[in-house]
Amino acid sequence: MSQQEYDVVLDQVSKNFGNIVAVDNVSLKVRKGTFLTILGPSGCGKTTTLRLIGGFESPARGRIFIKGQDVTDIPPYKRETNLVFQDLALFPHMNVLNNIGFGLRMKSVSKRQVKEKVQEMLEMVELPNVTYRKTNQLSGGQRQRVALCRALIMEPAVLLLDEPLGALDAKIRKQMQTELKNLQMRLGRTFISVTHDQEEAMTMSDEIAIMNNGRIEQVGAPHSVYERPVSRFVANFLGDCNLIDVEIVESKPEQVVVREPRLGTFFFHPDRNWQNKDGQGHMSMMIRPENITIVQNHRNFENIIIGVIETLAFKGSTTEYVVKADSTEIKLQIQGRSQFRQGDHVSIAWKPEDCYLIP
Ligand code: ATP
Repeated sequence: MSQQEYDVVLDQVSKNFGNIVAVDNVSLKVRKGTFLTILGPSGCGKTTTLRLIGGFESPARGRIFIKGQDVTDIPPYKRETNLVFQDLALFPHMNVLNNIGFGLRMKSVSKRQVKEKVQEMLEMVELPNVTYRKTNQLSGGQRQRVALCRALIMEPAVLLLDEPLGALDAKIRKQMQTELKNLQMRLGRTFISVTHDQEEAMTMSDEIAIMNNGRIEQVGAPHSVYERPVSRFVANFLGDCNLIDVEIVESKPEQVVVREPRLGTFFFHPDRNWQNKDGQGHMSMMIRPENITIVQNHRNFENIIIGVIETLAFKGSTTEYVVKADSTEIKLQIQGRSQFRQGDHVSIAWKPEDCYLIP
């Protein structure tokens, strides 16, 4: 694929503030029409990466391309990007019409045209009746929509969103996640968002880039980074998981056999994408809690551990257990109410395709 087919390309980009390396040799390609989320813990370099794409920071090294054009030395206002800031940065003394229409007015578009366009935008985000209200008279969710309209009205090729839903309470946040994704799909534009909330990233994104310490550790579709993480960091960051240190005893294309001295032998079915084809030595076996079941009949399972239920917690639709086997604690999440009690001896099992081996 040529660079023109990507809306954004970062080529070995680095940025430091004094001796803090905020972004460390990051390369990233974002296809046109993709909703990509940069996900990672506080301070990992997400916002700086976004600001580099928008032109609000200059890289110390590397090049940045937007729609195939090298924009590394081009200022923000000349780039085909628009950034929705974390704090939204709306003008509190101006009404909604003037906030959203501001950019177009600066480009000398007529008042009548601006008003029509603003009304169109407000209808798109289902906020038609707030045109003349001041932005400090709006709810958090409404302000968020106004900020989106203000950025989108300029028709940027790439919309950059810095923690777009950070200020909203949990319920509106969930609703806005779906709305934002629907909006992006309807417009068919490229959105790049930044968050530290893994559930938000999973809900909205076509692709997630997981960042740690200034570096991107993995980029992929939500299910692929969740099920096939390339590192312990990615596995842990994307939700609950069990990581058991194992040693490879046999490695064939269709099956890898591993061993943990006290827990036994386990089987893993690699897929085509598994990196460590001639895997040797020590690895971490990852099993998500929802992929483990409590079984009565051992015969149907290759991966079995016998242990004692240490804790169990009813969560409504699921029950969460911690089963202790030797000194290893294993987390399980099972649908419905429990038939078991604390202290019960149980056999737990998972399928070879439901675990993964991480270097
Ligand atoms: P958060 O989720 O907390 O917003 P982040 O992942 O977006 O964090 P960045 O804001 O990109 O992280 O910051 C990356 C690193 O660079 C941090 O160590 C931060 O303290 C540092 N940093 C960011 N901006 C500046 C600046 N203007 N001056 C000095 N250091 C900075």
